Amino acid sequence: MRRTRYFLPTLKEAPREAQIVSHQLMLRAGMIDQHCAGIYTWLPLGTAVLQNIAAIVREEQNKVGAQEMIMPTVQSADLWKESGRYEAYGEEMLRLQDRHGRDLLYTPTAEEVVTDIARNHLKSYRDLPNLTYQINWKFRDEIRPRFGVMRGREFYMKDAYSIDINQEEARNSYKEMMKAYVRTFRRLGLTAVPAKADTGPIGGDLSHEFLIVAKTGESELFYEERLEDIMTRSDEHVDVDEILSIYAATDEIHDEATCPVSKENLKVARGIEVGHIFYFGTKYSEALGLTLAGPDNTTFTPHMGSYGIGVSRLVAAIIEASHDEKGIIWPESVAPFKIGLVNLRASDDACVAACEEIYKTLINSGITVLYDDRDERAGVKFADMELIGLPWQVSVGPRGIKNGLVELKNRKTGDVIELSCEAMVIKMIEHFYK
Ligand code: ATP
Ligand code: MG
Repeated sequence: MRRTRYFLPTLKEAPREAQIVSHQLMLRAGMIDQHCAGIYTWLPLGTAVLQNIAAIVREEQNKVGAQEMIMPTVQSADLWKESGRYEAYGEEMLRLQDRHGRDLLYTPTAEEVVTDIARNHLKSYRDLPNLTYQINWKFRDEIRPRFGVMRGREFYMKDAYSIDINQEEARNSYKEMMKAYVRTFRRLGLTAVPAKADTGPIGGDLSHEFLIVAKTGESELFYEERLEDIMTRSDEHVDVDEILSIYAATDEIHDEATCPVSKENLKVARGIEVGHIFYFGTKYSEALGLTLAGPDNTTFTPHMGSYGIGVSRLVAAIIEASHDEKGIIWPESVAPFKIGLVNLRASDDACVAACEEIYKTLINSGITVLYDDRDERAGVKFADMELIGLPWQVSVGPRGIKNGLVELKNRKTGDVIELSCEAMVIKMIEHFYK
């Protein structure tokens, strides 16, 4: 993408209303535009990151056998009246009416719809397990939307739902999903702590929240320190039983008197909730009358669970976990472009020719590049590149290019090396296709 063609409205200063660093940087980096309280337009750079995160979430869901669907965002109130949540959900639910005066609502979550689909289409135990998910917009009329997309009213969520024969099978699904979560957060470059949690309005008896450790987190978190190593390992292998055996809890559950971990090994931190998984048994299957045929002319009520990931909140959480005083530092897995190419002198023919060649070669190799081809001062271009946090920066200036040399900078480490155009291209191709 050429910067002269790219809609990237960066700002020198953060607007005053932004209180936390991720909100400030998302506004300054031209990722979002506030539409009204808690509702945002995702501009091109923000959209690219959001979709990269969603793609990783999707891959890991698919890997454990979850199947993607798209459920309605506007739902019939009748169904929610059946489960009792139309009244119980309270003021966070956005209620609507159509032209015939029928009650509708904008979905805050989708247990009712999934259960309804199941009672329409599943017949017997042979149809189970059933594991589905969607990545879709939700609306909750939060009393105090704040911190940008961290606590919005409209937000993007992955919500998965499991339906199983019995409690034991449901626990297996729960563990499989937990595996997917561990892999997902590892790939996003995050340290996520799975903490025992209160089940809240969704109900049920087994629940974990996944929290990213960050000073600005809204929850307090207690966990055994060695959990960090396991959560950030770089391999595919996930031992859920091991993870479940290590203490971690939010303040709603934690009790100093009964905590099994010694003071030296216990970490107390603040955390951002980026995921929440629940096993809630037969709560919704019973309420909506989902019964299936068992073996030998019996019938039974399936056991269910639901599993959320805050995809839009993750954009902010990653920034909270990965930035410096100059701007964002994107993990490569979610970066909006892998490389930023900076032409230090747009009026110099040799610089332009080299940049065009580099740009073409990298793009043809399938590597995403933002090419700053503007007629701007080098300082302005560098400041913008640091701000938007692309993992690699290639700068092409008149002095170096005389000898065929360019500079390659790693945004995270700050390391800069000078090398030939060809060597740089080979290094990048090897790096991204290793
Ligand atoms: P919170 O305690 O932060 O209000 P929640 O427990 O109500 O969240 P869940 O119902 O567990 O949220 O939803 C699943 C995930 O969706 C959460 O873990 C979080 O990452 C995300 N999420 C929930 N509410 C919001 C919101 N208002 N804005 C952005 N993301 C949200
Ligand atoms: Mg929650």
